[in-house]
Amino acid sequence: MPATEAINVLDAYLDRTRDQRLTDYVEVLRIPSISTLPEHSNDCRRAAEFVAGRARAAGLEHVEIADTGGHPVVYADWLHAGDAPTILVYGHYDVQPVDPLGLWVKPPFDPRVEHGRIYARGAADDKSHVMMHIQAAEAWMATRGSLPINLRYVFEGEEESGSAHLDAWLEANRAKLSANLAVVSDTGFFNGNLPAITVGLRGIMFAQIDVAGPDIDVHSGTFGGTLRNPATALAHVIAGLHDAEGRIAVAGFYDDVRPLTRLERAEMARLPFSDAEYMAGLGVDALWGEGGYTTLERRWARPTLDVNGIWSGFTGVGAKTIIPAQAHAKISCRLVPDQEPGRIFRAIRDHVLRVAPPGVRVDLTLIHGGRPLLTSIDHPAVRVAATCLREVFGDEPLYIREGGSIPVAASFDSVLGLPVVLLGFTPPDDNEHAPNESMRLDNYEGGLRTVVRYWEALAASLVR
Ligand SMILES: [Zn+2]
Repeated sequence: MPATEAINVLDAYLDRTRDQRLTDYVEVLRIPSISTLPEHSNDCRRAAEFVAGRARAAGLEHVEIADTGGHPVVYADWLHAGDAPTILVYGHYDVQPVDPLGLWVKPPFDPRVEHGRIYARGAADDKSHVMMHIQAAEAWMATRGSLPINLRYVFEGEEESGSAHLDAWLEANRAKLSANLAVVSDTGFFNGNLPAITVGLRGIMFAQIDVAGPDIDVHSGTFGGTLRNPATALAHVIAGLHDAEGRIAVAGFYDDVRPLTRLERAEMARLPFSDAEYMAGLGVDALWGEGGYTTLERRWARPTLDVNGIWSGFTGVGAKTIIPAQAHAKISCRLVPDQEPGRIFRAIRDHVLRVAPPGVRVDLTLIHGGRPLLTSIDHPAVRVAATCLREVFGDEPLYIREGGSIPVAASFDSVLGLPVVLLGFTPPDDNEHAPNESMRLDNYEGGLRTVVRYWEALAASLVR
């Protein structure tokens, strides 16, 4: 059967099975699989069982609810496509907590369909993608009895609680996970719901600065004017972390930053984005950041350093005249390729210790780190994804980055050495992690059709 005819048959099948597929999607959304709350442990297990059951029914093989030490990973595969490449697919079946519950129009685990959307916790992030992937495989199996490419699926249950056990599980199952490419489905479209492919994620380095002065808080009248105040010393250190142009004033900080290419800058420049709307949305009257770069470039493709928290001395109501014994700050950097969290931590630690004034003791502790990720716009698997998106959604997809981190995406790169394509379909106004989360049903159906096409197109174009 020629490719287009096969696609027509698949599309017709998807049209026919729409109601049943929606019923399944609603059913998984009823399970409150909140991974961070221990009281929902059984629900996470139930969601894993549901996903495993649907994977089995779709005709996938070696379906397993694999123990990780935390909530299980659902693994499944289908490996009968001979010489075709093997794709590792990732999604997660766990969800965020639902508070503040009072802001939900309807209970978060009682899905409702309204105005072309399905509302429920997890409707977008990330049960939509988990179900799309299973239903795409099911459509191929039901109409053709086979898939055009080899697939391994990893559906995680701890993404929203830090993926604490995933790296070790990937490491331990390296042999079973061998593939040519990872497709991570946990991202979405851009402003105005324009189709988009996310090609970059920033990494992170999180640390704490502790400054200690006198052994105990002391009277600021008796001792003031004779001692270095740890809070003032910390303020001095923090104020010196950026220069007047908004650059991070730490020697070596930018050494490993891969410069933006002309193509990448052009792609970002053509995105529909307005500084004025961005400011209005945030309620600020000016933007700030590293000179020489646009807002989107600074947000997605340049590294940052921020103070996340700062505390010292007396913070109660009224007055208390002390020189505090200690001062503390939490700081973090968003990292871009090819910055390495450990190296960045050491550069900042060396800088802070060098500029710290005498009279206080300063200490830095690394709390956690995650690597950045960048997939080339020119990677054949990205190009093919763009073609499939255009075919289904009618518009040329945009290439975007995400300022935040999806640590697992970087793990597929760093632990398994796989190129990563971030293929996701959620609308920008999906309220993920917030009350009244929703998924557009046209994005859902379009996403499903894109995945169905992607497997065939990848098999034809990706060299194993
Ligand atoms: Zn997610």
